Amino acid sequence: MKVHHLNCGTMRPWRAPEGLVCHVLLVETDNGLVLIDSGLGLKDAADPAGRFGAARFYVRPAFDTAEAAIRQVTALGYAPQDVRHIVLTHFDADHTGGLADFPWAQVHLTTTENHAALQPEGAIERGRYLASHRAHDPLIVPHTVEGGEPWRGFPNAKELTEIAAGIVMISLPGHSRGHAAVAVDAGTHWVLHVGDCFYHRGQIDGTGQVPKSLTTMERVVASDWSKVEGNHRRLSRLCAENPLDLLLVNAHDPTLLHRAQNRTTP
Ligand SMILES: [Zn+2]
Repeated sequence: MKVHHLNCGTMRPWRAPEGLVCHVLLVETDNGLVLIDSGLGLKDAADPAGRFGAARFYVRPAFDTAEAAIRQVTALGYAPQDVRHIVLTHFDADHTGGLADFPWAQVHLTTTENHAALQPEGAIERGRYLASHRAHDPLIVPHTVEGGEPWRGFPNAKELTEIAAGIVMISLPGHSRGHAAVAVDAGTHWVLHVGDCFYHRGQIDGTGQVPKSLTTMERVVASDWSKVEGNHRRLSRLCAENPLDLLLVNAHDPTLLHRAQNRTTP
């Protein structure tokens, strides 16, 4: 499947000089277009307070409507209605902002994350899951991934064959209660989008060079920090193994996005 790497939202938190992106995958399948995450959407720019909450004061989104997935899908020559499915890593506002721009699309996420978003527990969950992102009554399709089959060393995964063979949801909780990674078979390689399992490549590439502000933010919003650290270790091992048939990306590191966009070898 052909995979496009899009930036659907620029954010500029203090003391993170590279800034952050919202790395969204647009996948061409035999079953129409599929988005992996949706970034920021048109409604966010129109109502930053209602759609982003207090988080906008520290992540400081640009709210540039040209970055919205629907605008980029159109620029690539597709109709918005060609987007039939959206697979979410989790239900944070910087990943769900584009959902309302595609109200006909089925929205896939883990059963655990859907439950958390519907019945948030504690201050962090009540702050992160905004009802405004469900106001358009999205067509939610929850998936039970826990207890699923293994995928390349990750114990709990589920291939979403009702969308297309080669799209795999992988349970990786920690950042949020039901966070998932999503793997996509791009033909010559797999793209593994791990969402917010880490924020900055320095957390997994062995350099350890990470803006402190990002680690602090990651820790503050984590549902379970020990699981986040476990995910860092697991992804560090994967990074060190450097499998040539696997492209590891996350949601917010701009360098990883640019490398993926400029990748020329399998
Ligand atoms: Zn995020």
